[in-house]
Amino acid sequence: MKKASLSSLKENNAALIFQSLRIKGPMTRAEIARETRLMPSTVSYITNLLIHKKVLKEVGSEDVSRVGKKGILLDINYDDFLFIGYDVGSAYSRVIVSNGKGDILYSKRFVSEKNDKLLKQIYENIKMVKNKFNIIGIGMAFPGYIDPENGVVIRSHNIDISNFEVKKVMKKEFNLPAYVDHNTIMMARSLISNNSHKEKDFCIINMGPGIGVGIVSNGRILRGYKNAAGELGHVTVNPEGRKCNCGKNGCLETESSSKAIVRNYEEISGKKLECEGSCESKLVYELAKKGDESAIKAFERAGKYLGIGIATLVNILNPEKVYIAGGVTNGWEFLKDSTEQSYNQHIFYANKDVNVEVSSIGEYITACGAATYAFEKYVREEIIP
Ligand SMILES: [Zn+2]
Repeated sequence: MKKASLSSLKENNAALIFQSLRIKGPMTRAEIARETRLMPSTVSYITNLLIHKKVLKEVGSEDVSRVGKKGILLDINYDDFLFIGYDVGSAYSRVIVSNGKGDILYSKRFVSEKNDKLLKQIYENIKMVKNKFNIIGIGMAFPGYIDPENGVVIRSHNIDISNFEVKKVMKKEFNLPAYVDHNTIMMARSLISNNSHKEKDFCIINMGPGIGVGIVSNGRILRGYKNAAGELGHVTVNPEGRKCNCGKNGCLETESSSKAIVRNYEEISGKKLECEGSCESKLVYELAKKGDESAIKAFERAGKYLGIGIATLVNILNPEKVYIAGGVTNGWEFLKDSTEQSYNQHIFYANKDVNVEVSSIGEYITACGAATYAFEKYVREEIIP
């Protein structure tokens, strides 16, 4: 059912206040009004409501030497709102507990189980964390085709699950609200809410066993008509290339993902790599560092197609910056030159000066984005109405 417009307006105003407090830190009501360009009366109404609900708190007076009454500083009551951020990956998964500001109070990385065992692993991890912390809600990031509105993973090839009703299941199992979205969207959210991050038009490419991109345009995430935007991994970069699990040939994912780099190495060297579970590009990176020519060429081949993929993305969107994240970035030193060379060959001249760089947020970027998203959604859906 569509919400009444007054309630939506209230939600949006609260989200605006919430976001500016998170980025700028403690502010007086007058400063919030200036920052958000909302009416002072609206700011007073919403902040009083959020204080009453214990989402905001008063943290002392502003430090100014002017004459007159000093304003009271408000801040988000981070410590009472702990959220789980769960990044479900096909090779590795990561769980964190975050206070929504991005401070990580607990973190764990582990090899992902497959199929039914994966679901069992998710339940057990959440149960374990919930027993240790006073958790308010869960943010979960998945690869694949997601319905964030209803909290359902419709289909994920990479982890081989379908129609997983995360929101419903988490409510039933743990009596906690759960908020679900695509892993690259969560990555983008992590950058949007990061204080050190300034661009309003940027892309973040997640390079692991699969490849996707989170697109941010004028500060907002671009999702597409059916939440399926950002499938950069399935853009054709080599029509003569390998068969992809989507049914096409030569998708970026089959040429430049972590699995593709392993395959490149095996084809070039004629050797088979042995590892527990599926092999990742980290293994090829270790060989490249030791000077293994086949391993170095495996990265160079992946970079050639990655350059085409990034140039295609940038030619359409003209972002200020393109970030690269995910497991493949371990080997960026061996990918960088061939990627840049290929990028320069395929880029439209007006886009030549776009920066491409590895994101510095680190391996918990997606889990952090998921926890932050859960906090925002919780305030919008459970506190404001
Ligand atoms: Zn494909």
